[in-house]
Amino acid sequence: MLKINENYQKLQSSYLFSEIAKRVAAHQKQHPEQEIIKLGIGDVTRALPKACITALHQAVDEMAQDSTFRGYGPEQGYAFLRDAIAREDYQHRSVAISADEIFVSDGAKCDTSNIQEMFSTQITVAIPDPVYPVYVDTNVMAGRTGSFRNGRYDNIVYLEATQENDYIPGIPDRPVDLIYLCFPNNPTGATITREKLSRWVDYAIDNKALILYDAAYEAFIQDEQLPKSIYEVPGADKVAIEFRSFSKTAGFTGTRCAFTVVPKACTGYTEKGESVSLHALWNRRHTTKFNSVAYPIQRAAAAAYSPEGKAQISALIQYYLKNAALIRSEIKRMGFDCIGGDHSPYIWVNGRRDSWSFFDLLLQKAGVVCTPGEGFGKCGQGYISISAFNDENAVQKALVRIRNVLAD
Ligand code: PLP
Repeated sequence: MLKINENYQKLQSSYLFSEIAKRVAAHQKQHPEQEIIKLGIGDVTRALPKACITALHQAVDEMAQDSTFRGYGPEQGYAFLRDAIAREDYQHRSVAISADEIFVSDGAKCDTSNIQEMFSTQITVAIPDPVYPVYVDTNVMAGRTGSFRNGRYDNIVYLEATQENDYIPGIPDRPVDLIYLCFPNNPTGATITREKLSRWVDYAIDNKALILYDAAYEAFIQDEQLPKSIYEVPGADKVAIEFRSFSKTAGFTGTRCAFTVVPKACTGYTEKGESVSLHALWNRRHTTKFNSVAYPIQRAAAAAYSPEGKAQISALIQYYLKNAALIRSEIKRMGFDCIGGDHSPYIWVNGRRDSWSFFDLLLQKAGVVCTPGEGFGKCGQGYISISAFNDENAVQKALVRIRNVLAD
């Protein structure tokens, strides 16, 4: 008899974005005439930067000739991409990360999901609330949690991000081994200062803990004083793994390319307390289970670091940030408290009512899709998240519709 992994049965209903898609599809079936504007899931809408497209075309042509064709590439990614990442994202910002500490992958979703395989199921995991749901669900699947009760899983330490702490969770009052942080945050859009991030790094050093730092939205940070990488904090290379993605930076959500930084100094421990290199473990996992990203896609990603690529990406980010600024100011004018949107594409709105009913109201009456805050954790109850990833005209139209519905 085939027995299943019963941890899957602890998972709550369907994954947030599938539930949204289900409700949108049901609404569209009933009202096929209504044009839906999606400001929900946070998928980019604008074309890939021209520099990336040109590199992609050239690489596809290389694959058409025996003399330039490539088969399997290095599992960790081609040197041309890893070198560019190390140089442009880290060394140019005075952060000592080397190319061989970078592991190219097909997405930060997979990496943030898979990374927990390296750790014991007996550790205590701390996860922000609200946050990108993948961190919680993958720990549930792995068996690190108890049952789901009153909106939360037993055995997870929830790091609450609320209005009271400016949506930046503080150090928990009980010991934890693995800490997920995500800045700029999905869904709140909050960003952490260097000083507050240093407290987390110090905590991890003092407690032999590890921070999983999801920086998928770092490209949206506009203030030079704010850290783009956790490695800007001294000592973080010993206690942090960082995730980045070309998805939101360069519009690669459908193209798929990301990377994870596992510094060589990063350490885990055996039952007996002996230290083990996490770089070596992740390298083993990556080479066993992954065969890297398609050559043309890695060429397209590397082109993001060319002078033209950088300029085009900067324009792309500014386009979405302009939408975000408009959403934020209009939502405030409608009398709602909100944060985010200044260093992130997300605006976190206190809707002062149940978040799924706010979601349904905007969908049914305005034809606008947002994301109900509750789907990101208990602290998201009463909130919705609005994403700036859409066409400028569509955003303007959505805001007029929302205003009309809320004025009723
Ligand atoms: N991390 C966060 C915080 C995200 O919001 C997302 C996507 O929405 C991802 C990771 C996934 O990125 P990728 O497209 O690289 O899988």
